[in-house]
Amino acid sequence: MLSTDTKTETAMKKTASTGFFLVAVATLALACGAFGAEAAQAPWFKVLNVGMEVGPTGAQVGCDPSDTGYAANFNGRDIVEKAVANHSQYLVIWAKDSEFAYYNSKVAPKCPGLGERDVLRETVDAAKPHHLPIIAYCVVQGNGYPLRNHPEYRMIDKDGKPIDRICFNSGYIEHAKQVVAEMLDYGIVGFHIDMIDEGFGPPYGCWCDNCRKLFEAEYGQPMPAGATWDEGWNRMLDFRYDTSQRFEQAMRRYVRGLKPEVTVDFNYHGYPPFSFEVGQRPVSHAINADFVTAETGVWGFGALGVSLTSEFLEASTPGMRYQVAMSRHARIYHDNTCRPVNDLRWELLTLRTHGSQVTIVDKTGYDGWLDPVAYNRMGEVFKEARAKEAFFGHPQLPEVGIYYSERSRDWYGRETPSKYQQGFNGAHKVMFYEHLPFGVLLDENVNADALKCFPVVLLPNVPILSKKEVDLLKDYVAQGGNLIVTGFTGLMGHMGEALDHSVLEDLIGAKYVERLNSSDNFVRFAADTPERLRTGYAADWPFLVEGPGTVYTPTTATAVGELMKPARTVRQQQGKEPIYQPNSADKPVGPALLINTVGKGKVVCITGAPDFAAAGEHPIPEVRALLRNVVRYLHPEHVVEVSAPQNVESVIMENGADKSIYVHFLGYQSPPQCTPAQNRPFVLPALIEDAPMFAAQVTVRRPFTKVTALNPKTTVKVDGQTINLVINDIHEVVTVQ
Ligand SMILES: [Zn+2]
Repeated sequence: MLSTDTKTETAMKKTASTGFFLVAVATLALACGAFGAEAAQAPWFKVLNVGMEVGPTGAQVGCDPSDTGYAANFNGRDIVEKAVANHSQYLVIWAKDSEFAYYNSKVAPKCPGLGERDVLRETVDAAKPHHLPIIAYCVVQGNGYPLRNHPEYRMIDKDGKPIDRICFNSGYIEHAKQVVAEMLDYGIVGFHIDMIDEGFGPPYGCWCDNCRKLFEAEYGQPMPAGATWDEGWNRMLDFRYDTSQRFEQAMRRYVRGLKPEVTVDFNYHGYPPFSFEVGQRPVSHAINADFVTAETGVWGFGALGVSLTSEFLEASTPGMRYQVAMSRHARIYHDNTCRPVNDLRWELLTLRTHGSQVTIVDKTGYDGWLDPVAYNRMGEVFKEARAKEAFFGHPQLPEVGIYYSERSRDWYGRETPSKYQQGFNGAHKVMFYEHLPFGVLLDENVNADALKCFPVVLLPNVPILSKKEVDLLKDYVAQGGNLIVTGFTGLMGHMGEALDHSVLEDLIGAKYVERLNSSDNFVRFAADTPERLRTGYAADWPFLVEGPGTVYTPTTATAVGELMKPARTVRQQQGKEPIYQPNSADKPVGPALLINTVGKGKVVCITGAPDFAAAGEHPIPEVRALLRNVVRYLHPEHVVEVSAPQNVESVIMENGADKSIYVHFLGYQSPPQCTPAQNRPFVLPALIEDAPMFAAQVTVRRPFTKVTALNPKTTVKVDGQTINLVINDIHEVVTVQ
């Protein structure tokens, strides 16, 4: 959790050394809450917070040279005018996709509907008087003209069959360089380069001759025969990661060599739900740009993905800026709808609250038509976000660090990434619902300082931990940290192989006995269990904690509660019937919790996986209560505690300058949906139209004299340390001074 000050400082250092497009801005002062500060200069991406990406609709379904109606009215002047009017601070203009260039290119086919017009020229010229920074959108991956004209750019699968994707070792980069060189001459401030991925699932690449040669030169042996999940495949994964990284670094170096002030950012796919198949690691593929850009949206990433992705980006690029792109369309880009204002507000203000710079993507009508209603709605949201700048970007006061392991993603999750990622997602869901302020920790860049930011560190079913990670965790606990581990954490080796012991044995204070081969496991707590560990479920009542479960025998730990394996019918035991639903609890097989004191800290091992269960098919409230109870047992009082409904997210931050506490409330209110036309019962949530009305309580454990709410309709009543609120909005900020 970096402070705004640190970020600004980094920005200023970079400004001095690279001469980025500088913006003389009042927004910087606003972002720090320091009104009246001297006008500062900083690169555009460090100080501008909301903007648009505008691109046409049609080429994504292929092209035909006679399709001259497509993008015929896609016009840079109109787009700039509308972007300025709707309070955008920067504009990403669609300059080249996998079918067309939207400028006068000598090396890429031009969109026929444009005639003589050059959209990039129009855009840059129109933006100049407004000092609106223009970023060129430029696609890399895609199966359009580059692959039609150059079949040799194709990836090749393990059986030698071509894949309709570009191999980054194919020589294609020379074309990509020609394209960006052309665009650089227009006076743009940056490139948003999309689709640096190696595919989103099987068949995987690439076994082309170029890749084979490079691989053999690097490793002195041939490529593996496929996804063999052995040493050979380990090298292949490294090779794929290195290939993407090399491409990104080469592109950025090339741009910088021509124009040192121009920024480069890549659309990133190193965050969940993406996995190894994309060819990106969370950290090493987030830091090859001036800032990282990811996407959110209920349509593809779920409603919870909005806050989680922002925190993931912050963890993967410490000290750097991060951007999230969201869509103005109801379901997915290009669907020619516009979300209601409250639906847009919820997503954008959630992203801003979590520190993201936010780009709203507008895909125009077929002919390039700019939907006036959409621009009005986006304008309302941008205006609000800009008016609230003083309340965003401050350091948070997190309680729980949720640990994410790229190694476990790859070698435990393998080709079923959810097997690993479900625990991480569920941990976030519990933190969100239970109002436990959280952040993200990543195995790739974890260090002692990162761990120390959190009073509690949670390893949600993280089977693979290196010696370095274990040593860091040992130090963290010894010095007073609180550690929670769940499920199969620490039970597998580097390649995902089952170990006969836990690598966290000393920390847990118990000996590993076995991993249950069932996922419908139960826990039960007797009436004499300490109250704090039994709130939210009845005494002596077994409840389902669906997910991995492990049997341990305590050595130094205190055992609490029972882990119970499920009953099985005779035919199930004989393997003649599947287990398609959880069965009832059978008998206890070990403790539910192991509580161990190590040095100045404590470790609680939850032998089931309530995090995994919370994101699963049977997410009963008791699994959340179990995890919340353990957090509260280890860390009984947080400086600020929020109680609010589950559909409301709370984010607590502190203004470093005057120590004001800002408690953000983000109300998500999605009404019921119809039975879907297909894939019953899986439905996407309804769009948010109404702002929710809810009561919330904030307990502040330090002296304060003044409490104010931004929205005049919010009722505020202070009773000692407790602030009682009734809020009727999508977003509210309560300031405690
Ligand atoms: Zn290749």
